[in-house]
Amino acid sequence: MKKQLILSLDQGTTSSRAILFDKNTNIIATAQQEFPQHYPKNGWVEHDPEDIWSSILNVAQEAIAAAKKIDAKIVAMGITNQRETTVVWDKKTGQPIYNAIVWQDRRTADICQALKKQKAEAIVRKRTGLLLDPYFSATKIAWILDHVEGARTLAAKNRLAFGTIDTFLMYRLTGGKQHVTDATNASRTALFNIHSGQWDSDLLDLFAVPESLLPRVLNCSDDFGMTDVDIVGEAIPIYGVAGDQQAAAIGQCCFNEGEAKSTYGTGCFVLSNTGEHALESKHQLLTTVAYQLDNKISYCLEGSIFIAGAGIQWLRDELGLIQHAKETQVLAESIDSNQGVYLVPAFTGLGAPYWEPDVRGALFGLTRATGIAEIVRATLESVCYQTHDLLQAMLADGVDINTLKVDGGMVKNDWLVQFLADTLNLEITRPQVVETTALGVVFLAGLQAGWYKDFDDIRAQWQPEREFSPAMDKALREKNLSGWQKSVQRVLL
Ligand code: ADP
Repeated sequence: MKKQLILSLDQGTTSSRAILFDKNTNIIATAQQEFPQHYPKNGWVEHDPEDIWSSILNVAQEAIAAAKKIDAKIVAMGITNQRETTVVWDKKTGQPIYNAIVWQDRRTADICQALKKQKAEAIVRKRTGLLLDPYFSATKIAWILDHVEGARTLAAKNRLAFGTIDTFLMYRLTGGKQHVTDATNASRTALFNIHSGQWDSDLLDLFAVPESLLPRVLNCSDDFGMTDVDIVGEAIPIYGVAGDQQAAAIGQCCFNEGEAKSTYGTGCFVLSNTGEHALESKHQLLTTVAYQLDNKISYCLEGSIFIAGAGIQWLRDELGLIQHAKETQVLAESIDSNQGVYLVPAFTGLGAPYWEPDVRGALFGLTRATGIAEIVRATLESVCYQTHDLLQAMLADGVDINTLKVDGGMVKNDWLVQFLADTLNLEITRPQVVETTALGVVFLAGLQAGWYKDFDDIRAQWQPEREFSPAMDKALREKNLSGWQKSVQRVLL
């Protein structure tokens, strides 16, 4: 029998990737392609949907060719994607009527402000678990309908379709046959009622989005359709879909209540599974769908830190203190304390639990002896302190995290992960397969394809690479945290 593989497509904010996995989570082949970012105005971020499409098609075809070369069979496909990014296209021609408006785009801030004035935030929060913020898709859809000439008329004639990136890709991959999404992606639109698992007609009215634009919402493991041979080169069933952060949580096997993961890339996202309870946060964290299987939703609490790896990029690109990210480990290790130097990297404001978009960053505790190592170390430490604050907010909301699994580009840095364990006073696990986002949808597609029977079966595939245990004494931990908190208070003044 031919070797069986699952093809995972990971459509991210800056690049598209394809990874082939076998049943035992070995990576057989990978392909990656970056694509252009567009910043037409201050605060606006767009992608050309055709760039997204061609880059994903290229990497998919590269992976398919790699499978052919070793005479393996791709039994299913999983798709994970940048969340919230919005595309509207003409159902008749299949052509987008505007560029994709990316999650980072702030153009609808005024619309959100106006809706807040009308006291609409409470209903958004209650039904969707989100905040009333430009981040989410709803106001982006309305913006396209209101700013592209004739769009509302076309919508009234049932000619338009909306999709997050998963939906747009599946529409194209299936040759226009499918207009579908999964519950995790739906839960980021601000139009989806996370309690009933349906599009919410009150929210559709509030945001002025016609229901006819919306895709069908399926489980995360489901039959999403078959890729079109003429387009893709092979007919492959699409069996697993989840937004990137949820996919990473699944790839880290955070299936049950109390299981949490933290991903350290450019920013950092913490997701903590809360089981069947859609816990309402009192600290501006998001309540969102962790996954939906067999029409049953599991929830999680989500918090994000804007500047994680981006702080390292700042050290390299703006300050020129390092040439390469990996130098940060040696520099941090070269001094035995932070020397009282703290960086508050509020370059774009502070996220949860502060939510102060207008504060700016600062470096504290400088002396004549402060050098590159201290500044670099303060940058790494700031990522750990911010995670601490986030987990405190989760704790205050009633979510007690007893172990944390980490992934993302930054966790290659052993010093950082150890300092994180010390600061959080928590056991931290780094997995063997760090491509957790791509792996998450392999698990989902594998469930549908019959590769795995259940979560236990999947857990058996997941291996830790290294455990980090807290080893710092309490007095030092508290001294560090107090130094950090004082610094944060100063930028909040
Ligand atoms: P994204 O998916 O957001 O593009 P990745 O998960 O690829 O990000 O992680 C890349 C980030 O990790 C970059 O910001 C980079 O500066 C940082 N990074 C990579 N290696 C290290 C390291 N050894 N120490 C600290 N940061 C690192």
